[in-house]
Amino acid sequence: MTDLSRIVATIAADMARAEDRGRVADYIPGLARVDPNQFGIAIVTADGETHCAGDADTLFSIQSISKVFALTIALGKVGDGLWRRVGREPSGTAFNSIVQLEHESGVPRNPFVNAGAIVVADVNLAGHQPRETIGELLQFLRHLAEDDSVVIDDKVAQSERATGFRNAALANYMKSFGNLEHAVELALGVYFHQCAIAMNCRQLAKAGRFLMLDGVHPGSGRHVVSAARARRINALMLTCGHYDASGDFAYRVGFPGKSGVGGGIMAIVPGRASIAVWSPGLNTRGNSQLGTIALARLADATGWSIFRPAADRSPDAP
Ligand code: GLU
Repeated sequence: MTDLSRIVATIAADMARAEDRGRVADYIPGLARVDPNQFGIAIVTADGETHCAGDADTLFSIQSISKVFALTIALGKVGDGLWRRVGREPSGTAFNSIVQLEHESGVPRNPFVNAGAIVVADVNLAGHQPRETIGELLQFLRHLAEDDSVVIDDKVAQSERATGFRNAALANYMKSFGNLEHAVELALGVYFHQCAIAMNCRQLAKAGRFLMLDGVHPGSGRHVVSAARARRINALMLTCGHYDASGDFAYRVGFPGKSGVGGGIMAIVPGRASIAVWSPGLNTRGNSQLGTIALARLADATGWSIFRPAADRSPDAP
């Protein structure tokens, strides 16, 4: 067993025994049914090794983690023009907050709060039917994960639509400021379906590889995005990827990461690893309770914090 396999196995065993597992999101009925006694972790390293433990092959709803991939597509379509419609500052507020939108004239703080992701969905709709926009995102994920089985969980999508009153409020509010080009229902339809994409830790860690490799997809050897763009997406994950707990996550873990209310977190160690953890119970800020603890443990055990001096990050260290 390599050092890294041992670290991953130990973390998974400890998380399986954890008593305080947080609370499963219950505001979307499709998520409330998930058994909280699950934990999975998958790490794909820059040299192509995969280390998995626990429930790494169990599908879960990726929810807000989809915002990273939708953002990547939107930047490919409109480039830096996106930043006229969405900011790139941490929000310091909850993922579904409407408060800042009024002060900031319908321009969401960043693409990872719900309002920002709805604008991104609107950008990705340009020239397409919602079905095509979602199809494009699914194809992108399948390509990145090298796995054609990635699909949407329709029950979760329906459940989001049936209960998404706050998201509808955010979308209508932005529409009133002229920051949505398409009909509110169309942008929301894309947003609800992208949140309902189901993946497992193994697939998600593979999908994140281009962000660890300066934009290159190791399967094809081609750039999915430029190196500069990959670094900027990582910067956004570090500063905005955990809503109003983004600072705390950077402090405790020290990796760019994006969480979702399904209990998943994708984290990137540039040049070193793409990681996915999942445990459905959330902490009070809406981020996976055990997922966050597991990543903090991994950072401590490996010394992978991006804030560690580069000279200390020897290629042989785990
Ligand atoms: N679909 C969820 C919502 O819009 C996503 C939130 C999240 O994962 O943080 O409420």
